[in-house]
Amino acid sequence: MGVFIPLSIPNFEGNERKYVDDAVNQGWVSTGGAYITKFETELAKFLHVGNVAACQSGTAALHLSLVESGINPGDSVIVSPLTFIAAVNPIKYRFANPIFIDCDDSLCLDPVKLQQFCEEECEWNGDVLSYKGSCVKAIVVVHVFGNLADLESIMRTADKYNLKVIEDATEALGSKFTDGIYKGRFAGTVGHFGAFSFNGNKIITTGGGGAVTANTPETVDHIRFLSTQAKTDPHYYIHDEIGYNYRMTNVQAAIGVAQLELLPEFIRRKQDNYELYKIAFENFEYGTLMPFRIGTESNKWFYSINIDRSRISASMRDIITRLRAKGIETRAIWGLINEQKPYRTDATYKLEKSSYYAGRILNIPSSTQLKKEEIDYVSGEVKLLLKELANE
Ligand SMILES: *Cc1c(COP(=O)(O)O)cnc(C)c1O
Repeated sequence: MGVFIPLSIPNFEGNERKYVDDAVNQGWVSTGGAYITKFETELAKFLHVGNVAACQSGTAALHLSLVESGINPGDSVIVSPLTFIAAVNPIKYRFANPIFIDCDDSLCLDPVKLQQFCEEECEWNGDVLSYKGSCVKAIVVVHVFGNLADLESIMRTADKYNLKVIEDATEALGSKFTDGIYKGRFAGTVGHFGAFSFNGNKIITTGGGGAVTANTPETVDHIRFLSTQAKTDPHYYIHDEIGYNYRMTNVQAAIGVAQLELLPEFIRRKQDNYELYKIAFENFEYGTLMPFRIGTESNKWFYSINIDRSRISASMRDIITRLRAKGIETRAIWGLINEQKPYRTDATYKLEKSSYYAGRILNIPSSTQLKKEEIDYVSGEVKLLLKELANE
């Protein structure tokens, strides 16, 4: 039949080629050049923040945020296990311990269990929170699929127990609060740090890339300093701290400047396409389209079908393979991080929802190029298959 509808592909319909050509022609292809600064300035403007440091990846952005938070070997960092592993690995880069606390129905960290954990399982001496002798210093909050976590509650607990909040906004660029105390604030600009990714499947891409923002401009300056080998004196190679080679390149930033011009349009399309899927799955018995948090406007980066497991027992692998045969690329949500080999001995707390959703969520095509006919086709085929499976 020749139909193939990918899950999520990059969209280069703007000035990408023009700006990359320009960067190459100028000979500025590495970690210096005007596009990097322009990308940082434009991203800061979009997010309504004072300072942004562009870097090599979202993983690097998270790693630098943990370094800047003062996470040291033996410390503990709270995170939900229902996420991409890049949100958690940087904790181990610091030789620190993740503590896996459950997600809620938004797929993001559960604020109630977070509060309970701090209160009932930890010791608080008025200054430091500790868990089994380890100092709990930070929370990595992932805004899963563009859906904002309940930051109001999470920040309250973080303030109470002196915890740094690192927002993993890699999937949520452009998602914002429309209600509550953070009304008007974007994902990644509420906590102490915000990490962004411009990998190929994210809402905008630089090929590979990331960015960090923080609640003071000086902190961001220091992160930028660390990302460029921590040159205390750039001319005489004096280094007073351990640095990293994590700076974004000018070629990546050239793509990024073009992508930022398109970002509002990409968000609009993701939101419009979500509405089309919503209509298609209305009153469907065997699976529901996952909603986004009330009081927010999400970038609607990824769409998720919550499969009714009381009626469908087919494996995710089977479902994905059968849709692939129809030319539709879908994927399962991540395997829980606490079940991955390097993490099996780490602490967990009240994991219920995360395992529940891990077996039920199917992501369906969400590229910005999607046409209405394609959404109709995907919805029709997914519904048909789930209905068939329920009756098998
Ligand atoms: C993509 C992603 C990352 C990592 O970003 P990279 O740019 O690929 O390093 C981290 N956390 C989550 C939740 C992501 O989806």
